[in-house]
Amino acid sequence: MFYCQKCATKNKWPDDFYLAQSKGACEVCGKVEVCFDVSSSHLPKPKAVKRVSVQGKAMKTVKVPSTWETDFNNSNATNFRALLFCMIRKADADNLRKLAKGFPAEVEAYKVWMNSGEFPDEVEVEDVS
Ligand SMILES: [Zn+2]
Repeated sequence: MFYCQKCATKNKWPDDFYLAQSKGACEVCGKVEVCFDVSSSHLPKPKAVKRVSVQGKAMKTVKVPSTWETDFNNSNATNFRALLFCMIRKADADNLRKLAKGFPAEVEAYKVWMNSGEFPDEVEVEDVS
């Protein structure tokens, strides 16, 4: 992960002077300045979302199998989930909402990955059961 001082403060990520730093575009906000270069595995996992969403909807936790990350990273694979992730990557906000109706966990996992750079072990989705 490559992030600037501002994003480090905002996300409470390490910003010690001895960390590797170089000038470039921050992966989070895109600003070009001296950024910290820290392996994503050293950053804290995104914290779990509360059980009830802002809209007051019931939420549930869905475990994300490790095979999803393989499918997500393998754009040449032709199995269903790999193709689904290809579609999710290319979707605009409107289509993403449509995809989330059928595949909420996949879409949520993608959003977590977009925000944190880490594929999640589990995601919180609306409990429609
Ligand atoms: Zn930044």
